[in-house]
Order: sequence, then C-alpha cells, then structure tokens
Amino acid sequence: MHTRSGLKASLFALAAVAATAFSAAPASAQGSLVMYCGVQEEWCRAMSNAFEKDTGIKVAMTRKSAGEIYAQLKAESSNPRGDVWWGGTGDPHLQAAEEGLTQEYTSPLNKDLHDWSLNQWKAAKQRSIGIYAGALGFGFNTEQIKSKGIPEPKCWADLLNAKLKDDVQVADPNSSGTAYNLLATVVQLMGEDKGFEYLKALHKNVSQYTKSGAAPAKAASLGETAVGIVFIHDAVVFAVQGDPIKPVAPCEGTGYEIGSMSIVKGARNLDNAKKFYDWALTPVAQALAGPAKSYQLPSNKASPVPAQSPKMDQMKLIDYDFVKYGSSAERTRLLAKWDKDVKALPK
Ligand code: PLP
Repeated sequence: MHTRSGLKASLFALAAVAATAFSAAPASAQGSLVMYCGVQEEWCRAMSNAFEKDTGIKVAMTRKSAGEIYAQLKAESSNPRGDVWWGGTGDPHLQAAEEGLTQEYTSPLNKDLHDWSLNQWKAAKQRSIGIYAGALGFGFNTEQIKSKGIPEPKCWADLLNAKLKDDVQVADPNSSGTAYNLLATVVQLMGEDKGFEYLKALHKNVSQYTKSGAAPAKAASLGETAVGIVFIHDAVVFAVQGDPIKPVAPCEGTGYEIGSMSIVKGARNLDNAKKFYDWALTPVAQALAGPAKSYQLPSNKASPVPAQSPKMDQMKLIDYDFVKYGSSAERTRLLAKWDKDVKALPK
C-alpha cells in the first residue's frame, strides 16, 4: 500500500474560487432528458431542478445506487431509456464503459478539471468522467460506543470487536457503489486472502446489508446501529447537524471514490445529454453540492469546496487501482466471490 502523493497533490490542492455564471438559456420547450442519478436524493433533485431552470430542458430523474444503475443500463441496452448517468462511484461507470453501455464524449470543460477527474475519463476511454471525489471510512454513534464500554473505533480492525456483534451496518456491494468500494479497498489494503478473511469476520458483526450505501450513516446517527461503514462525507452530513456520530478515516489507510458521469450509449436525447454533461462540470452546477449537504470534493478546479468536506490530503489513502477494480471481469468476479464466501455465511 502506498499513498500517491502526486495524485493527492492534484486532488486536494483546492482553492475556494468564486463561481462564474453559466449562460442561462430562456426556459422554454427544449425537449427532455432522462437522468439516472447515483448520489443522495437531495443533491439529485437540486441538480435536475437547476438544469431544468437554466435550460428549459425537462428532466426525468430517478435516484438509484450505482450497482443498480449499471444493472439497469445493461438490462436496457437493446432499448436504452436513459440519457445520462450522473453520480455514483466510478467502478461501475468503468464497467459500463468497457461493456459499451456508455459512449465517448469530450467536453470543452475538460481543461478545467483536476487530473483525477481526467484519469477516470482516460481509464474509461472517454466514456466516463470524474465529477467528485470522496474517501471511504465509517461513522460511529458516540453514545452507543460509550454504553458498550469499548474504545472509540479508529481502525478497520476495531470493527471486528465482538462487542459490536450485530451492530455494524454496511450496504450490499451488488447494489451499492460504496460497498463495492469497501470490497475493493479491503482487497487492495490487505491482499485478497486476508481481505476476505476480514470481510468474513466483519460479517459476524453486520446486522444487515442495506441496499443504499449511505443508509448506514443515517442509522448510526440515529443510534439504530453503533457503526455504519460509508463514505466519510456521508457521516459528516449528520455530524455537522449535531447528531452523536463521529466520522473516521481508518488508521490502516483507506480507499476512495471518483464519483463519475457517463452518457448512455444510444441515448434518445443525445444533444441534451451533452448539454447536461457540460453544465454539470461547471463551478455553478458543482456549487449545488454543499447546500444539498453533499461534501465531496468537486472536479472542476474553480468549484467551491464545501467547508465541511473531509480533508483527504490528511488521510492515509491507498493507491486505488481504478482500472483493475472497475474492469468488468474483476468486478463480476469479486461480487460473485463475496456472495458465495461472505454473504452466504451463517451468522
Ligand atoms: N451518496 C453519496 C453522497 C455518494 O457520494 C455516493 C457515492 O458516490 C453514494 C451515496 C453512493 O451510493 P450507493 O453506495 O448507494 O451506490
């Protein structure tokens, strides 16, 4: 495991810069756009409403987890319904790119983006691009941990404590991009054999595998579970509103996501998909994240960084191999192995 300082430097050397106005077209009948949205509902709605207002293009938006959107694109590939897939972890976007479910596009905004965003675009052979970055970790409920009389968890290893039996929540990696990011992170951090041993041991403490990746953060904030494994920014949402949840960047090191955007192959509203794509890369559009309580790092160098965003440059990050873990063969193989070796285990 190594930290990738060049990437970290470009990832996080971010200045809060005033956003420039995106040229707004008059709101009139400009056609429509079908958007599959992979982040949390509030941000999805803010994006679709603002785009509609700026361009007059009517947006039909559906929120789903990343693995579900990938599966939907695959199921619809002979008769595509969606136009643009915005948000969600980069791995399933890469798988969709490799399988020809999405199409190449070069935005004039590319020149304004961080290297990590363009690295996703290059890895996807121009079929996907980075729109935000966020690190994986967990959030724990301070009251629950106190009442169990155990030290505050700081490391992945701490989540195996027997006193956390049935008190850890994480999503199912088949549906959730977050949970697949965990699976790939653990394999890269510990090696495949030890990584799967870890996930099997963790299974004893997992009360339920949720469908959506961010749901365990809410559960931990409410004290419905002691620990939720989530992207750190998803735990920050509840911490900043005063809930008894503490976000943690695990001591051994952790993985991260390049949240991505892709245009669907065979999109019926291709011109509008391109318009949305360009618009979504502007500082004005990316500034909608913070007010929608989404604290990832934006991909446009001129986009404002929410004050609440976790400081990724101060974390121990693995050198996440997006090409390998976003490949169709590897993602399919790891998910099948997790189903067989982990999920099927008795508790
Ligand atoms: N919510 C937020 C704010 C995210 O950044 C992401 C990942 O991109 C997700 C949710 C992922 O959702 P899921 O794990 O359900 O695919």
